[in-house]
Amino acid sequence: MDISAVSRKEVLRYLGYKGTMEIQGAVEDEVEACLELLGQKAEPKHLVRSFPLRLGTEYEIDCGCFCTRSKNLSKNLQECEMVLVFAATLGLGTDYVIQKYNHLQMSRAVILQAAATAMIEEYCDQVCRELKERYEAGEWYLRPRFSPGYGDFPLECQSSLLDGLEAGKRLGIRLTSGCLMMPSKSVTAVMGLSRKPYRCEVKGCEACGKTDCAYRRET
Ligand code: SF4
Repeated sequence: MDISAVSRKEVLRYLGYKGTMEIQGAVEDEVEACLELLGQKAEPKHLVRSFPLRLGTEYEIDCGCFCTRSKNLSKNLQECEMVLVFAATLGLGTDYVIQKYNHLQMSRAVILQAAATAMIEEYCDQVCRELKERYEAGEWYLRPRFSPGYGDFPLECQSSLLDGLEAGKRLGIRLTSGCLMMPSKSVTAVMGLSRKPYRCEVKGCEACGKTDCAYRRET
């Protein structure tokens, strides 16, 4: 995977660095080394599929592939007619690198974890930018990614999302009994599709300047 687009700022944020903290050159060098290692092992893949959406009373959501109740997601999906169900993964190679350094050098393993998280997010953003462009050409407008576990969207829906995409067979993503995904750097999400021309920020509502937006994702 091309690591040049991965936000170094995000890696440092996942490591707990705040804006005002001074970052030592050695940390920056280590971040580069970790991204290099991960870039060699990552095999990013994704799947996406559209489903019709029905929003009921009491925050009921029926997407065909899953049914749930979530106030936060219902608000985000208002005025949408369809949803895109999405899954992406970096593959098992990045997990093996992290596991190796868990035994060899814990300080590097911590940076690898942060770098791999920034890497899967960057990959998801790239795919979503392409989807946004493709759907906007057909006058469909994409809401930001909303993942199970975010706000009151139940984490248990992860299983239905993966089944709806056949992601086990096609991407090799499995769920542990605690609903964690393996490979660990995997993401599932839904994105509303609306005919209303709202040009959402791919990086999500937190990065969007429309603070009074009626669909703003809240947790
Ligand atoms: S706040 Fe921005 S990104 Fe979020 S739903 Fe509204 S327009 Fe889209």
